[in-house]
Amino acid sequence: MTHFVLNNEPAIRMAFFIGIFLIVAIFELLVPRRPLSTSKTSRWFGNIGIVLINTVLLRLFFPAAAVGMALWIERQGWGAFNNIGLPYWLKVVLSVIILDFIIYLQHVMFHAVPLLWRLHMVHHADLDYDLTTGTRFHPIEIILSMVIKVAAITVLGPPVLGVIIFEILLNGTAMFNHGNFFIPLKIDRMLRWAVITPDMHRVHHSVFPSEANHNFGFNLPWWDRVMGTYRAQPSRGHEGMTIGLNQFRDPSRLTLPWMLVLPFIGKQGRYAINRRGTRAED
Ligand SMILES: [Zn+2]
Ligand SMILES: [Zn+2]
Repeated sequence: MTHFVLNNEPAIRMAFFIGIFLIVAIFELLVPRRPLSTSKTSRWFGNIGIVLINTVLLRLFFPAAAVGMALWIERQGWGAFNNIGLPYWLKVVLSVIILDFIIYLQHVMFHAVPLLWRLHMVHHADLDYDLTTGTRFHPIEIILSMVIKVAAITVLGPPVLGVIIFEILLNGTAMFNHGNFFIPLKIDRMLRWAVITPDMHRVHHSVFPSEANHNFGFNLPWWDRVMGTYRAQPSRGHEGMTIGLNQFRDPSRLTLPWMLVLPFIGKQGRYAINRRGTRAED
């Protein structure tokens, strides 16, 4: 099983990406949560365009990527997990959980450090919220994120299978929890104990910094509850809330070239956590 996954890793990841993309896209058409406020075609052109750029850049700079790094660390016998005698399955489970916590901390850091926030603004500047928002990250943020992941893998020495599962989960849940589809509230409440639902992460895309500085998780919902950054619902409800950033409201500027230069020319606003105001909607 492990060998099969290792030998077919790119194909398995691509199959999950396309499969989850199609399933979420169909749900968005059948049971949309909110009407879109801007042209879906131009948004998707930009959001999918940036994914293609990021994929090519990662291949160029990190041809082996996180999985290759885990394999190499394992062969060297480096990293904590390669030097402690835990059962293999437990190492796999713990690796997924620990890597997810690191991604949570990284996300908080991108909201707290003004220079990093400039990069992360690209993710938040989307004026609508659908599965393609979940794939919209500035190329420098993607590269920094890979550097952090590689550093974490070097220290942790997780089993390669754990890294593959984590990468597939992160990719899949990012599309799921940015999905613009309706989940009955009772089911949403139950799901929130195991996964981050679209309603939970949508709070994080509110124009109000007091709401956007909550719900930083991507895979597991526990970190926000444990770290005190959980917020159940937006103050104006999911239909009434405004998505995006206050300083970027012009849809005609949400093109692919604009996304690429946004960190360098855009105003950073009052979003960084340490600049939070005192009013409820700051
Ligand atoms: Zn964010
Ligand atoms: Zn998001």
